Amino acid sequence: MPFLPYGRQHIDDEDARAVEEALRSDYLTTGPRVAQFESAVAGIAGAQYGVAVSNGTAALHCAMHALDIGPGDEVIVPPMTFAATANCVLYQGGRPVFADVCEDTLLLDVTNVRKRITSRTRAIIVVDYAGQPADYADLGALAHDHGLTLVADACHSLGGSYRGRPVGSLADMTVFSFHPVKPITSGEGGMIVTDEASLAERMRRFRNHGIDTDFRQRESSGSWEYAVVELGYNYRLTDIQCALGLSQLRKLDSFRQKREVLARYYLDLLLVRAPAVRPLFLHDDRVHGWHLFMVRIDYSGLGTDRATVFKALRARGIGVNVHYAPVHLHPLYRERLGTSEGTCPVAEAAYKELLTLPLHVGMEMRDVERVVDTLGDITCNCRRE
Ligand SMILES: *Cc1c(COP(=O)(O)O)cnc(C)c1O
Repeated sequence: MPFLPYGRQHIDDEDARAVEEALRSDYLTTGPRVAQFESAVAGIAGAQYGVAVSNGTAALHCAMHALDIGPGDEVIVPPMTFAATANCVLYQGGRPVFADVCEDTLLLDVTNVRKRITSRTRAIIVVDYAGQPADYADLGALAHDHGLTLVADACHSLGGSYRGRPVGSLADMTVFSFHPVKPITSGEGGMIVTDEASLAERMRRFRNHGIDTDFRQRESSGSWEYAVVELGYNYRLTDIQCALGLSQLRKLDSFRQKREVLARYYLDLLLVRAPAVRPLFLHDDRVHGWHLFMVRIDYSGLGTDRATVFKALRARGIGVNVHYAPVHLHPLYRERLGTSEGTCPVAEAAYKELLTLPLHVGMEMRDVERVVDTLGDITCNCRRE
């Protein structure tokens, strides 16, 4: 049996041709494909501006910089995410404050967020965990009431929507990643979309060494002058990557639909063949991006543990994973912020039960059957013949 990874890119001949065209064009970077990719993603996400950067982590850094997050500032983040969601606050010298997640969805719990707001709070970064859009109506109202900026880490949910509004139009700034396992890929890549021209401008400068392009634009063409007006980085995305991203973006809908079909088949099969394996709750007012297919298993209740199940599945070619160890329990956070067990009890309890099952566009229905049957075999106590 071939190994089935938990996530994988899906590249076709059209993608390859688009990349080759870019390679043979006049611009390998800072050319026309960057702006094309930016406006295409912004269009799908229902936002005015897109700022393409080298990866999703750089996008989060740009967002925190554009908000002038700095020492003394607090930014509320969920623990059930990739570390970059919180690391970006530390890059700026700010303090990530962890708010717990909801038991059923593992999305940020608005009630818990409210409790963590202080006079130092500047922003909330919300994560569309596994691809399901978060509770944007409540989060938006809370942010508005306290004068906070709402940033969406939508690295899982490109193509999703909430009450009919696309992911990308639900927060002040929304961050995407185009890493190979994400909804679409550009190899590495990231983007921030926003309706705020001043934020977009600030982020464009930050990704290019802090060089003031307005100054350059004011100069007569052919001038060698440019001004570094603040400290920035080289976070640019190449035209080669944007060519791939543009080509992939045309397939976003069909990719998302295919993953949804696979996910719904998982849900149906698990119910009858492995009832002890519990999927996450799905709200019916949102379109799920289906980046990850997460389940919870009460391992100790079944007389086993996750390591045993994990190894047994891997040994049978099923590339399971775990997303995520709560960020506040990483040594960096324990040491820097003094976080520990008990900081976010719901996320900590969920983590002990989590398992990520394979879900990607290249899978067939029989792959889903294979995963569920293998899982049923291994956790045989929960198998109902
Ligand atoms: C992947 C991911 C990131 C980081 O994106 P990169 O492109 O890998 O830097 C940030 N947040 C979340 C939730 C992610 O899944």
